[in-house]
Amino acid sequence: ALQAGIVGLPNVGKSTLFNAVSNSAKAQASNYRFCTIEPNVGLVDVPDERIAKLAELVQPDRTVPTQIEIVDIAGLVKGASKGEGLGNKFLANIREVDAVIHVIRCFEDENVLREEGAINPVSDKEIIDTELQLKDLDSVEKQIQKKEKQAKTDPKAKVELEVLQRCQAHLEQGKSIRALDLSKEDKSAVADLFLLTDKPVLYVANVDEASMHTGNKYSEALQKVAAEEGAEIIIMNNSIEAQISEMDDPDDKALFMDEYKMTEPALSRLIRSAYKLLGLNTYFTAGVQEVRAWTFHEGWKAPQCAGVIHTDFEKGFIKAEVIGYNDYITYKSEAAARDAGKLRIEGKEYLVKDGDVMHFRFNV
Ligand code: GDP
Repeated sequence: ALQAGIVGLPNVGKSTLFNAVSNSAKAQASNYRFCTIEPNVGLVDVPDERIAKLAELVQPDRTVPTQIEIVDIAGLVKGASKGEGLGNKFLANIREVDAVIHVIRCFEDENVLREEGAINPVSDKEIIDTELQLKDLDSVEKQIQKKEKQAKTDPKAKVELEVLQRCQAHLEQGKSIRALDLSKEDKSAVADLFLLTDKPVLYVANVDEASMHTGNKYSEALQKVAAEEGAEIIIMNNSIEAQISEMDDPDDKALFMDEYKMTEPALSRLIRSAYKLLGLNTYFTAGVQEVRAWTFHEGWKAPQCAGVIHTDFEKGFIKAEVIGYNDYITYKSEAAARDAGKLRIEGKEYLVKDGDVMHFRFNV
């Protein structure tokens, strides 16, 4: 599964958030599948109400959602790029993940130590951004040194060198690579550097209880800078989420969330957003045995999507029978959708859409 890593300064609520994640991973695991991989990695279900809606119609024996992995990357501090506080180890952990969840403190609490002075989400964000940018600058400069020689004789290396130099100039201005306008070819020149500031990011504004639904002046300030990057921010209270996740009894949980006027845990919103951030989509299979959600990447064609279920499905792919999610819900069954002409036969070139209900035909 693809991974999203939780980062942020100390005492902003990262572990609290990760505890919420791993508690819900454990709760889910008792239902059907294994869960925790390593102490700092949790495999969580991606909440998707469409599964329950399809299950209502199909009445399967079981339902199976998709999953992603959430990784707790504790220990980033100012100076990490210079090796401060095991900085290099944590930065290396970020290199492994596919997207970043950046937790930012937007709550006041004298009892929770803070070394950076008054609460300031914008400068907190900058501190982390700067560390990641410095680390990237390091990687880029090393690569420039390597390419400089090659570039004298090799035209391809020369092009790559130019891309690297653009990255260098951009990072030196205190900007992240994700904000640099690189073409697909340009990207391939830096792909093997796995630059930290190229990874997609979303922000968690960890606010106090009272601001859970409304946000506060801190989350508003963060919202503004996030919007400039086109990044999403999730306003939530991590302590409350951890408490919800600790409750085993569904009635207690419902009552507790009711008290806070919550219709679902904010964690569900976060997981769904992380899934999108990772560039992931879902198609469904709907049979009497199971209604199941499957993950595919944006832009995948039918055979590749079939391969998610089994490699044989991809190798022997003949065609796919497809009903769009809304059509399935409207006509209430495969047969009725077929009668209404809403079941399409698609071939190898079909670009699967999020929500498609698929049935693959293949040679064995
Ligand atoms: P980390 O260092 O980023 O992993 O931070 P922790 O999750 O360990 O949280 C640091 C402290 O802040 C702990 O004492 C938490 O109980 C507390 N904390 C976390 N989230 C909140 C919150 O939303 N509000 C308040 N008041 N305290 C919080």
